[in-house]
Amino acid sequence: MAYKITDACINCGACEPECPVSVISAGDSIYVIDADGCIDCGACANVCPVDAPIPE
Ligand code: SF4
Ligand code: SF4
Repeated sequence: MAYKITDACINCGACEPECPVSVISAGDSIYVIDADGCIDCGACANVCPVDAPIPE
């Protein structure tokens, strides 16, 4: 399991410093998660103002 950031992302950057394994980064259009490193903790979803990160 890993989280994925959807198109709802508004590029606020709030999630990036909250990830305990630092797998969130700014992508070309929205923030992105490196699914290989995601430990499915949900911290990014907890701080996102638009609920863009979703488990998949
Ligand atoms: Fe990082 Fe946790 Fe979000 Fe995965 S679910 S990207 S480990 S904050
Ligand atoms: Fe995008 Fe939400 Fe992360 Fe902000 S907190 S950069 S809106 S995914």
